[in-house]
Amino acid sequence: MEIRKGIAVSPGIAIAKPMVIDSKDYRIPRRSIMPSQRDKEIQRLRKAFSKAILELENLGSSKAIQEGKIGDIFAVHMRFLKDRSFRKRVTDFISKDLVTAEYAVSTILREIASHFAGIDDAYISERAADIFDIEKRLLTHLLGKKQEEVDHLREEVVILAADLTPTQTAGFNKSFVKGFATEKGGRTSHTAIVARSLGIPAVVALGDLSSEVPPECVVIVDGNRGVVIIDPDDDTLKQYDVYAQQMTQFVHELDQLQELPAETRDGVHIKMLGNIEFPDEAEQIIEKGGEGIGLYRTEFLFLYGGQEPTEEDHYNAYAEAIRAVGDKPVVIRTMDLGADKLPHTRWHPNETNPVLGLRSIRYCLQDLSLFKTQLRAILRASVLGDVRVMFPLITNLQELRQAKMILRDVMEDLDEFAVPYNADLPVGIMIETPSSALTASLLANESSFFSVGTNDLIQYTLAVDRANEHVSTLFSAAEPAVLYLIRSVIHESYKAGIGLSICGEIASDPEFIMLLLGMGVRTLSLAPPMIPEIKKIIRSVTIEECNKLSRAVSTMDSARQIKNYLRDAAIRILPETF
Ligand code: PEP
Ligand code: MG
Repeated sequence: MEIRKGIAVSPGIAIAKPMVIDSKDYRIPRRSIMPSQRDKEIQRLRKAFSKAILELENLGSSKAIQEGKIGDIFAVHMRFLKDRSFRKRVTDFISKDLVTAEYAVSTILREIASHFAGIDDAYISERAADIFDIEKRLLTHLLGKKQEEVDHLREEVVILAADLTPTQTAGFNKSFVKGFATEKGGRTSHTAIVARSLGIPAVVALGDLSSEVPPECVVIVDGNRGVVIIDPDDDTLKQYDVYAQQMTQFVHELDQLQELPAETRDGVHIKMLGNIEFPDEAEQIIEKGGEGIGLYRTEFLFLYGGQEPTEEDHYNAYAEAIRAVGDKPVVIRTMDLGADKLPHTRWHPNETNPVLGLRSIRYCLQDLSLFKTQLRAILRASVLGDVRVMFPLITNLQELRQAKMILRDVMEDLDEFAVPYNADLPVGIMIETPSSALTASLLANESSFFSVGTNDLIQYTLAVDRANEHVSTLFSAAEPAVLYLIRSVIHESYKAGIGLSICGEIASDPEFIMLLLGMGVRTLSLAPPMIPEIKKIIRSVTIEECNKLSRAVSTMDSARQIKNYLRDAAIRILPETF
């Protein structure tokens, strides 16, 4: 049994067989073996070679492959796998250095690949890709199942991976993928956000993880405590079975709140909206007792599916989401591509600092045809319900003016063809950079509403990459600098008389709800599965208590002190969550 601690990013308990997903940049950690395990390890290596060779023979027998160029490539792979000196090198490495077969394969093949890549001959340097391919094939046999099998699962699994993209995660079939655990990532990475939306328990930032997991064991992913247990003993399994049942019972109790208003004990209504990535999630918002869509992350239209969305694709997706919530508000955020959300379907620069690069509204303002296609679809959908448009990552007034000017251009185009749209469409912005927070008073004059994206606001204020596990302990909404900015944006929105919501992950964090209410927030937008739990907190407190808590926090000078204080208060209200 091995217990690993990471970051809990999506609540719930999953207990199932592991499925290891490899990726090209998968890093195999160095693991030592005992001298007595040497022969067994070499035996595993031999088997992996035999299976890889057999696989290539089967593939090579297909007519299409024999006739094409691929046949030559496979022949090269085959020669390599049968090369005695290569095999001997790997075997010797295992024997002398007492390391696992996967570590030996990966290390030696990567040495060879980097040697090839450095040779000043296009043909030879391109062979590095073949070496990676061979590495992948051997590792597949040493580590277990293949990534493609995720798409054709027939049994329940928990996925273990070095890292997952938001798109991979969004493609998981929930009936079979019961949970996942990754070596990398942070609480507000988009992969984590998708996991929460789908309600898949997940733990990230576990460090070296998946190479030592025996394919036939069971793995527990505890998304509440941020723990992963590999090959648990019987007692642990029993404890977790009981715990999982308690959690199911708790979720069931929370679901009873659906019909009840999100109102504090002293009668203040808090509007609870949902964040979605796909239109079919909208229905869940209503099921969970939410009152509309506060953030529709439309860039997922680009991230999922093999083709670039057309205007009709945009329109149909928006129409579906609007239909699902009826006359309730739908805030459609224009595409937030870039950083960790890279489209497969179109060119995007390879940037050194993508988070500070061509992302979000900047990308749209440089690619007007892409932007206008989306705006046209949003405007056409605006007559179907209470639609509002929102621009992400606005950093200054000029950017907002530019975006609004493009919107007006598109309105004029639609006028020409007498296409109906709502000319009074509310236009809001996300406040997710320190510069927009600091100039909120200026931006408020030209915005219908603000939505505070705390995930990026924390990232940019503290200079901490939200998806980087090496600095994840520094990523904290409780930092006085972050709270100072949020307070000031709330103040400016009240002064200007415009609406404000919080749509970053802080809005679904039980520890922060009282503070947000005490700061004056009256609208929250969060992952639909989290709505009942947060509603329970809202219904358990008074605004007076929240104001008092908020005043106390404003006198504190460190994130640790604030976090402990908020946590104690939340535990008193909702002990089941902790
Ligand atoms: C945010 O940054 O807080 C936000 C809600 O936007 P996203 O997580 O999609 O970047
Ligand atoms: Mg953001």
